[in-house]
Amino acid sequence: MEKDWDLIVLGGGPAGLMAAGQAASGGKRVLLLEKMDQPGRKLRITGMGRCNLTNIASNEEFISHFGKNGRFLRQAFSRFFNKELVDFLEGIGVETITERGGRVFPANDDAVIVTEKLVRWVENSGVKIMTGAPVEKIILVDGKISGIQTRAGDIFPCNEVIIATGGASYTGTGSTGDGFRMAEALGHSIEQLRPALVPLKTMGNTAQRLQGLPLRNARVTVYFNGKKSNEIFGEMLFTHFGVSGPIMLTLSGQIVDALNAGIKVEISIDLKPALEEAKLDARLLRELDAHGKQKAASMLKRLLPMKMVPVCAELTGIPPDKPCHQITAEERARLLRWLKDFRLEITGHLPLEAAMVTAGGVSLKEVDPRTMASRVIDGLYFAGEVLDLAADTGGYNLQAAFSTGWLAGQSIPDSGN
Ligand SMILES: Cc1cc2nc3c(=O)[nH]c(=O)nc-3n(C[C@H](O)[C@H](O)[C@H](O)COP(=O)(O)OP(=O)(O)OC[C@H]3O[C@@H](n4cnc5c(N)ncnc54)[C@H](O)[C@@H]3O)c2cc1C
Repeated sequence: MEKDWDLIVLGGGPAGLMAAGQAASGGKRVLLLEKMDQPGRKLRITGMGRCNLTNIASNEEFISHFGKNGRFLRQAFSRFFNKELVDFLEGIGVETITERGGRVFPANDDAVIVTEKLVRWVENSGVKIMTGAPVEKIILVDGKISGIQTRAGDIFPCNEVIIATGGASYTGTGSTGDGFRMAEALGHSIEQLRPALVPLKTMGNTAQRLQGLPLRNARVTVYFNGKKSNEIFGEMLFTHFGVSGPIMLTLSGQIVDALNAGIKVEISIDLKPALEEAKLDARLLRELDAHGKQKAASMLKRLLPMKMVPVCAELTGIPPDKPCHQITAEERARLLRWLKDFRLEITGHLPLEAAMVTAGGVSLKEVDPRTMASRVIDGLYFAGEVLDLAADTGGYNLQAAFSTGWLAGQSIPDSGN
């Protein structure tokens, strides 16, 4: 019996939308089922509403941002990479601009318009989109896909299914990990889910006292069990529970793994990365000489953001009302050390729900990187964050969703109906 649909795509995020549109453009009859009341709920809030679509980094650099699993993306990127994505977006009416760090954004800074143009393209390609339609399970008959069943109990027959249900974070956008459960029920292995790009908790109340303070030019060094592991330069933010902001989110993946392995994690913040120790010391000496009668706190205000002054005074043990000319050589040395090495112990992280990206997911060993097809079930494909792929901030995650979606959509065979 002829089935109404050649392909059913589960999930209307960037991966599912791209997959559905590509398959329909290739002549397939495609149904896209989206759990929420509208597709692309997460896409609409990406990049703080601006949507960092991709990055102009080279293929090799791009792949390195995904860690050891990045190689899996080689085939997808060889077919549909950043240039192809930018051209595609222009084709659907989204002009782009490239900013610092090679980050590509829509020229109008509007993630909602990007989503709406993408959805319109998908519909114009002939895809039928059904919203408010959470899929409950994929139905197999004799080990082959025969259709899907929605939570409401409706059954839609088909031979090919793409799971593009995203990760298990920011669950309010619809990404609640359903795809992992459905894939597991069909015999797929799921690599342990972990938060990636997640804010971190720190020991004590130091961060809390600095809550809301951004550091735009900090150099952060990470220590695992006292051994230097990584160094990164950029912007971070203190929060009521610890630290966040771009560089801390970028470091969070490896820090979460280290914490899970029972490793002691510390970060060292260099608050004056542009000044070598000797130069900074000379600057401190000049300050103390020139303003001998001023209180230490006044001198610190010229060196640090206001919020940091009492914290610095306490942690270095320099009384804030001590006149500068009375500050001892030892106190100056302590201040110098603190400015170059402000230490915080990382004690934990916010839960998976609060992470920007879910690490872990459908094991890449069981997916063909040339087609995104399951190696376990015929007719099953994957695209996007449901796969065991997670990258730093910078537009890498969206490119991976678009590229794997594109490849999955292109790989759907003709039905012969
Ligand atoms: C706040 C925030 C900002 C971000 N900013 C950026 C950025 O600027 N650049 C970048 O590269 N990355 C960014 N990311 C990451 C990026 O958004 C994701 O990696 C990307 O959206 C993954 O795409 P996806 O299509 O695989 O999954 P998702 O976008 O999560 O889409 C999955 C879809 O599947 C639907 N679904 C789930 N279960 C079912 C079901 N059972 N039945 C039917 N439908 C279902 C969901 O409702 C959802 O619409 C950000 C993430 C967050 C949370």
